[in-house]
Amino acid sequence: KGLTKHFDVSEGFFKRKKAVLRAVDGVDLTIYAGETLGIVGESGCGKSTLGQLLMRLLEPTRGTLSFAGSDFLALKGEALRQKRSDIQIIFQDPFSSLNPRMTVREIIGEPLKTHRLAKGNDLIKRVDELMDAVGLDRSYAKRYPHEFSGGQRQRIGIARAIALKPKLIICDEPVSALDVSIQAQILNLMVRLQKEFQLTFLFIAHGLPAVKHISDRMAVMYLGKVVELASKDALFAQPMHPYSEGLIQAVPIPDPTVRNDKKWVTLEGDLPSPVHPPSGCRFHPRCPYAQDKCTVQEPALTEKEPGHFVACHFPLEKTRKDLM
Ligand code: SF4
Ligand code: MG
Repeated sequence: KGLTKHFDVSEGFFKRKKAVLRAVDGVDLTIYAGETLGIVGESGCGKSTLGQLLMRLLEPTRGTLSFAGSDFLALKGEALRQKRSDIQIIFQDPFSSLNPRMTVREIIGEPLKTHRLAKGNDLIKRVDELMDAVGLDRSYAKRYPHEFSGGQRQRIGIARAIALKPKLIICDEPVSALDVSIQAQILNLMVRLQKEFQLTFLFIAHGLPAVKHISDRMAVMYLGKVVELASKDALFAQPMHPYSEGLIQAVPIPDPTVRNDKKWVTLEGDLPSPVHPPSGCRFHPRCPYAQDKCTVQEPALTEKEPGHFVACHFPLEKTRKDLM
């Protein structure tokens, strides 16, 4: 609730001007057990920072965080270490997140060893089982990360992430660095593991296609804020925020006759800086529906239909001025 992360930055020619980068700016979000919540938005919208806050890799500037019923921010020391093992992360670039000097067996076995859950032959057996689970040949256990392809490295990262049987896995663009053909394999693997290990996913991506199939619900972020939150089906069938419309429009549609009756928002212009977010609605400089009110008053995230939240003064087409 109200989760916020501001970073102090320097700007100006001599980097002497102090400023505040509002990476995550008051996010209210619930992730339900067993679901996949997709988080989408352009680079710099705060989605990765949000993921790191949820893991307490970063401490929030403000806000509260509760996990499985307990105040996650109040935990310290051993209690924090224990609880933290329930949350794991999979990174975008499996290569840079794997220690090049460790064998696959050491990498996957590390969390089990650190948490003193297995050692000796038991550890080797547990790692073998994890390699089976992610579709890696056991005979590769003594190889090093550079001996694997991108897709295989991501399987190593996934095996390490599930080693402690976590409840929640933050997936930070886990397939965006992979070839399209490999992406589908990794996504299918994740869906299978989700069922097998009863995992909950927070799945971060910059575009909608990557999360479309895997997500149950989706949150769209813009400049540190959630601007729309809905079930995947509702979001695609009737996006209420013009930015979400723009993101959907950016997805190539195979049949050009589809959606011809509708005027779609095209995203123009760059994402403004989170150091100087626009006044009022942060999307107003890029929004084709913007009206005077939008430049001065910030819209709050409001439930317009059951389970469908949007932060826009004119969320439905009928309330918007016609696009010229
Ligand atoms: Fe566009 Fe106004 Fe809605 Fe913001 S509040 S998205 S500027 S219509
Ligand atoms: Mg990122």
